[in-house]
Amino acid sequence: MSVISSNVNIDKYLSLNKYDVDNNHPHIVLTSDPDDEEFDKLVRVCPAALYKRRDNGLKSFDYSGCLECGTCRVVCGDTILEKWEYPRSGMGVEYRYG
Ligand code: SF4
Repeated sequence: MSVISSNVNIDKYLSLNKYDVDNNHPHIVLTSDPDDEEFDKLVRVCPAALYKRRDNGLKSFDYSGCLECGTCRVVCGDTILEKWEYPRSGMGVEYRYG
């Protein structure tokens, strides 16, 4: 098995974005007790690393840094995502370049 490595510092690029978080209306909601295997898929695929597993196995998710890419919806929209929609108008990510 080959290992893919990268020298790209994703945090540097993510930090360029601006987020207007809609604290009263989360645009992504997980089911109350998400299946472990399904959740771990999202840990691997979310480009913003918003799905996390702690050493003790606890799961956490924070929609505030969402890039609105829809990857989690495609992968687990029918399993552990109770809700996925774009943030309300004017809210969410604002991409900045350079
Ligand atoms: S839409 Fe994209 S960035 Fe947002 S939580 Fe899902 S996978 Fe992560």
